[in-house]
Parts: sequence; C-alpha cells; structure tokens
Amino acid sequence: MTTLTLDDLTKKYAAGVTAVSDLTLTVNEGELMALLGPSGSGKTTTLRLIAGLLRPTRGDVRFDGQSILAVPPEKRGAVMVFQTNALFPFMSVGENVAYGLKIRKLDRAEIKERVAAALTAVHLPDYENRWPDQLSGGQRQRVALARALVIRPRLLLLDEPLSNLDRGLREELRQMIRDLVQETGITTLFVTHDQAEAVTIADRIGVLMNGRLRQVGRPRDFYERPADAQIARFFGGRNFLSGIKQGHIVQTSIGRVEIPASPAPDGPVLLTVRPEAIEIGTNGHNNFLARVQMYNGRLPISRCQVSINGVPIHLTPPPFHNLNTDETIVVHFPRERICVLPPDETEETYEVSKTS
Ligand code: ADP
Ligand code: MG
Repeated sequence: MTTLTLDDLTKKYAAGVTAVSDLTLTVNEGELMALLGPSGSGKTTTLRLIAGLLRPTRGDVRFDGQSILAVPPEKRGAVMVFQTNALFPFMSVGENVAYGLKIRKLDRAEIKERVAAALTAVHLPDYENRWPDQLSGGQRQRVALARALVIRPRLLLLDEPLSNLDRGLREELRQMIRDLVQETGITTLFVTHDQAEAVTIADRIGVLMNGRLRQVGRPRDFYERPADAQIARFFGGRNFLSGIKQGHIVQTSIGRVEIPASPAPDGPVLLTVRPEAIEIGTNGHNNFLARVQMYNGRLPISRCQVSINGVPIHLTPPPFHNLNTDETIVVHFPRERICVLPPDETEETYEVSKTS
C-alpha cells in the first residue's frame, strides 16, 4: 500500500510549453483518484513524471514520503496502462501476462500461479492460450490490465484506458477496475477527459486545466460546490446569474435571490443552480415567474427551458409533466441548492466604486 505525493510538480518542455504547473496532490493508499481534464491539460505528462519516463523541471514525486526522482522507472513499481496497448503478437495471452515476471526472474510455479490469478481478476480465466489477434478491444484492455497487475505494482497509472471502447463495455470495465482497486488495495490514478467517467469510477477527482490543479474533491462536491464557473460548466452546470451580493441577498437580472450563508465577500458574485435543483411551484422564498420556452418530457431525464425576465434558465421537471410552450409558471430555487461563485471575468464586469 503506497501513498503518492506530488509536491509543486512542474514540467516545462523544451519547446517552451509548461505542461504541468506547481501540481501538489496526495493520493492516499488504496485510493482510486481520477485526474480529469480536457485534452492538452497535462494529464499524460503527470503520469509520465510519476512513472519516471520524464524528469520534472521542478518539484518532487514521493512514494510513502520518500522521493523517488533518483529511482529509475523499472524500479519504481509504478505501471502505466494506455488507451491502446500493444500486446506481443507472437506470444499467447498467458505469455504476454507472464512477460513482466519472467524478466524479473521469478520461478515457474509462481509465474503460473500469478498469471492465472491476474487473468481471473480481469474476468478472463480461460484465455491463457489464446492469441492477441483472437481478442476484442475490451479483452485486449483487460489483458493489459492483467499484465500490469501481475507484477503487484505500488501504483497503477491508467491513461484513458477505456476511451477506445464502446459505451456498454466502458461501463462494465469501470466497475471491474473499481473492484480490482478495492480487492488489491493498489493506489490508482485514473486519467480521463470524461467527467461522467470520473464521477462513476473515482473515490476522489482532481480537475486539471492548463496544467494546473483547479479543484480536488469527492465526485458530489463538483456538483454541489464547484470552485468556479468553468468547473461548474464542465460538470454540466447551465444556469449562471451574475449579481451583487449583500449579506444573504443577491440582486440579479431576475430579481432578488436569497442565498445560503456564504463566506464570499459582499460585492459581485456569480450564482449557479443546477437544472435538477429547480422546482416548479411556489415554496416560501425565491419564487420567480417564468415563461416556458421549450419542454421535452419524453425522456427519462426531461428537459425544459424557461425565460425569467428574459434570462434563459434550464430545469429538469418530472417526465410527462403537463407544460406548454408560452405558458407562464412559477419556479422555485431552493436557497440551499444555490452555489455562490466568484464573479466570472468572461461575462459582465462591474463598476467597483473606488475610494481615492
Ligand atoms: P493530456 O494528456 O491532458 O492531453 P499532455 O500531458 O499530453 O496532455 O500535454 C500537455 C501539454 O504539453 C500540451 O500542450 C501538449 O501539446 C504539450 N506536450 C506534450 N508532450 C510534449 C512534448 N514532448 N514536447 C512539447 N510539448 C509537449
Ligand atoms: Mg493524454
């Protein structure tokens, strides 16, 4: 069981690109942490720095508190699995999985036992004598995982391992990876650009954007307490209202909005409320007249857009609700479901009165 610590980890490529900036993060022993970010955000670079395939420009990588920068990649015990994994075509599945143990010179009986256990763990117990070209894409990825697991690594580094698979298979393998991490206790960093994947697989998520770690938390924190508008949008947030906060009231273009107690200072703020948090009907506070612009109730998750004082707002009322275009309804924003974010620089700016 290994705790991974990244300390101010920074990587500048020769081309002058800073791919990873001052990344500080701890992945606890046995934890499955997702590193989530759009393409080019520095995810692969981070994994390569941990595996020892790249040297950091600055900062440290520690396993159980010990710096491993001086340790060569093959001695670190960190193993990477990629989006597509080349298996040796001239070796059987069993030989492919055994390869890492043969070069470590383990004895035959132990190799046999560990290969069988690894293939069983990835649900391919009878595949030892198959050839790589007889496998589907999903089975190849499972063999790649078995090949990684068989050496009993301290760290499992997965670089978008499911991105090339179709949807059903992806869901099945996510569950399998979760089970594997739980059973083996191997500390795992799972890289993905897909927020739904990160949410379903991970104990915690770190969001990386432009090489910087922007927020770390449990999956639900990114819905309930996103750090800023960009992260809220990345997790499907669609309703944003800029306004001026004074105590527990924010003046916005749809009117006065009551907010929960917030450490945000008075002044310009951005409010967000998730579509699924908005209710139809009157309820105590934060009731607004809304004109229905669009409603599609024939989906398991229905979609509706209304206009409140000209501002488009998205909600997800129950399916097969009776709502007609241009109808006027009342919607309710429960106070405790409103998130107070820093003002969004990319939207309206405010005149802040200066005292000279
Ligand atoms: P991700 O895996 O999140 O897509 P990468 O870590 O591959 O991101 O890349 C991060 C940034 O570093 C990108 O801007 C990419 O173009 C750049 N980059 C990656 N590898 C190199 C390299 N060998 N030389 C120069 N720039 C690189
Ligand atoms: Mg990548």
